[in-house]
Amino acid sequence: MQPAKAETSQTATKDMKDIVALCKRRGFVFPASDIYGGINGFWDYGPLGVELKNNLRDLWWRRMVTCPPIGPDGHPVQIVGVDSAIIQNPKAWVASGHVGGFSDPMVDCRETKLRYREDKLKAMTVVDKKGDNFYIAFDEDADQEIIQKRLKKLGIAYEANAPMGAFEKMYKDVPNFLEKVIGPDASKVGTLTPPKQFNLMFQTYVGATADEDSKAYLRPETAQGIFLNYKNVLDSSRVKIPFGIAQIGKAFRNEVNPRNFIFRSREFEQMELEWFCHKDDAAKWQKFWFEERKKFWKDLGLSDENLQMRNHDSDELSHYAKAGLGTADIEYKFPFTAPGFGELEGIAHRCDFDLTQHQQHSGEKMEYIDPDDPKNRYIPHVIEPAAGLTRGVLALLCEAFTPDPNRPSGVYLNFHPKIAPKKAAILPLMAKDGHPEKAEKLYMELREEFPVDLDIKQNIGKRYARQDEIGTPFCFTIDNDTMNDDTVTVRERNTMAQERISMSKVAEYLRTKMKV
Ligand code: ATP
Repeated sequence: MQPAKAETSQTATKDMKDIVALCKRRGFVFPASDIYGGINGFWDYGPLGVELKNNLRDLWWRRMVTCPPIGPDGHPVQIVGVDSAIIQNPKAWVASGHVGGFSDPMVDCRETKLRYREDKLKAMTVVDKKGDNFYIAFDEDADQEIIQKRLKKLGIAYEANAPMGAFEKMYKDVPNFLEKVIGPDASKVGTLTPPKQFNLMFQTYVGATADEDSKAYLRPETAQGIFLNYKNVLDSSRVKIPFGIAQIGKAFRNEVNPRNFIFRSREFEQMELEWFCHKDDAAKWQKFWFEERKKFWKDLGLSDENLQMRNHDSDELSHYAKAGLGTADIEYKFPFTAPGFGELEGIAHRCDFDLTQHQQHSGEKMEYIDPDDPKNRYIPHVIEPAAGLTRGVLALLCEAFTPDPNRPSGVYLNFHPKIAPKKAAILPLMAKDGHPEKAEKLYMELREEFPVDLDIKQNIGKRYARQDEIGTPFCFTIDNDTMNDDTVTVRERNTMAQERISMSKVAEYLRTKMKV
């Protein structure tokens, strides 16, 4: 629940506007309720977006549950999965600390009626004609261009090096700071209210009556569904410490400022592992998971230069992580954070906080009994690699987006074949002379094993352009030579290089490329 430290600007080549536009144009991500003007913080995944998201989901599940990594002892670690309900007994969220503490500090603007997350605001020091200091607030994402424009509008000379500070710091340094600051969209000083805590959990009512007793919450994280099932899993399966329980699913947070496309939304998906171990081994496992998770993202194509590891500062640690080894984040350089980075995944040491809380609140014993020594009983410690599935999709989209003025589409998505929604397209050169029939034959063979497109219409250049824009790594073209010798042209997306291979070798060709 802590904001990642990030600066803002746009990289020269990747502009979020272009990425969002491509996502809509090609059917990756649409605003939810688009025909009604959308709803802030909610997104729908289109035909290609759902494939991309499912691919990431399935690769995570495979890497965690069906084919877990090799542990430090040379054997695969033990991990099982669960799929818990989104709505749980509300007592669970009291125990976990979410009812009391899952909140963000918010300030309202009396002039504009807009609401801001206080920890995402910064303020610039400026001097008025009398020589007194006053302050102008900006969103932490505001870049030099936005700052300059705003100063111009307010009639203040642009001050490139004027000191800028986070609100938290301003309170400490400037007496009566709120009376001297102009809100991010306001025109006058002193219109921001003192911060109030705002709980991020969505509430609903279960059953026919809507009263205090029937109040329930949509889960703000998938993790608690794992802790709630810890005992059931122990009792029903043969796992022994150390082991993990994994879950992928929806989470809901009534974020004050949903923004940056699907980076921060109000409904999103998480991929979380709770790794249960003895407290003496927590440091070893945190290091292990950190390395393993970093490798996962790199294997999917995120480049070294766009990934960064960051340990949380002590003031941003969550309540449970303070007592332990802290949290280490894997961060990605999104176009809207560049040259800074934004959180993609956190690897937290949750200590024994959650299980101890559930033991206290439910009265159920959460102790682990060592099968080799029943006198050895303890509440295990937890290392939690928690990643955003939808935020991961955004990182993959941003990484893949490659402007290229030398091709008709002007851009292509450089997805790793493992991640690409379509692995290949089969394109008959002409819609006659037996080409479509041959293409269909190849398509019928490949579709059993791979998601592939058969595209017969339009000229070949337009069809290549479409496949480039949706990130299809290979196009197989059927032409007159195919009629004579049963070979096809393979066009590789990134290099646009072409080679001829036998039609009977196409499936094997794809199989090999998927493994790389
Ligand atoms: P942030 O500081 O960005 O609010 P967090 O530290 O609160 O994130 P966690 O509670 O650790 O996040 O959740 C684990 C992961 O879930 C995050 O690393 C992120 O990828 C994803 N996530 C969290 N909140 C959102 C959101 N509102 N929209 C999309 N993904 C999210």
